[in-house]
Amino acid sequence: MWSRVFRPISVAPRILMRMASSTGSGKLAGKVAIVTASTEGIGFAVARRLGQDGARVMVSSRKQANVDAAVKQLQSENLNVAGVTCHVGKPADRAKLIQETVKTFGGIDILVSNAAINPIFGPIMETTPEAWDKIFEVNVKSTFFLCKEALPYIKEKGKGSIVLISSVAGYVPFNLLGAYSVSKTSLLGLSKAMVPELAADNIRINVVCPGLIKTKFSEALWKSDAALDKALEGIPLRRIGVPEDCSGIVSFLVSDDASYMTGESVLVTGGRTARL
Ligand code: NAP
Repeated sequence: MWSRVFRPISVAPRILMRMASSTGSGKLAGKVAIVTASTEGIGFAVARRLGQDGARVMVSSRKQANVDAAVKQLQSENLNVAGVTCHVGKPADRAKLIQETVKTFGGIDILVSNAAINPIFGPIMETTPEAWDKIFEVNVKSTFFLCKEALPYIKEKGKGSIVLISSVAGYVPFNLLGAYSVSKTSLLGLSKAMVPELAADNIRINVVCPGLIKTKFSEALWKSDAALDKALEGIPLRRIGVPEDCSGIVSFLVSDDASYMTGESVLVTGGRTARL
């Protein structure tokens, strides 16, 4: 079942091949990127891919041990990365992330806001005020304020690019993940609201909406054979995604190849359709 679904052999060579172009050449050469929640899963794959494409990358997440392990792994792949702890919901941590990036790499060109939480599963009508606040605090408010706080530094570069990681759930709410889904819909609105003011400073903002990607976060949806079979029913490509299915899209969006794209959202769902 797993080999049919994940085809791990096809992903590994892609990673290895890209390591060859990780020494400062590549389409993101000279750029500095921040990726939040980047010590595992989609964020880690994005940090790795931006590094492989030539960027210097600040890796971050809440736990020092996770940051250390991710930095060690990426540096062992000859990628130019550094790391700092940052809980995106804490203003002081966001300030530290930005200051450390500027101190270490001399500025910021690219911001990938990837962190999100989902503390509850259940009917939306049972959502408590505490759970609602926590989800919106981390998933939406901290995303906006991180963009706002990084903006002066991105502006200094004369151009830049932001990518927000939303979800297909932002288009079609997941059952039992109502508040989380609405927070992800909010990111679509947030990006569009920021487009005109960011564009005035030559900064683009786009959104990536993954479908089901094999990470710890989504474990409940793929770990058992029954859950996996159910999930696969709605996916035309007949496999769930891996983080590397998202990282190349992010690298494209932050690169000059996407220089005339802003305010867009890209579904990465294996063909599952969705509309707002
Ligand atoms: P994951 O593999 O579980 O990784 C979560 C990462 O986030 C870890 O590095 C974790 O490290 C960090 N983290 C957790 N809370 C944080 C916080 N408050 N501040 C900073 N870092 C934090 O998750 P993932 O599946 O890659 O999810 C990444 C993004 O993709 C999320 O926005 C999620 O909503 C979105 N997404 C995922 C899927 C999917 O199927 N996996 C589908 C659609 C959208 P620490 O524990 O050290 O903080």
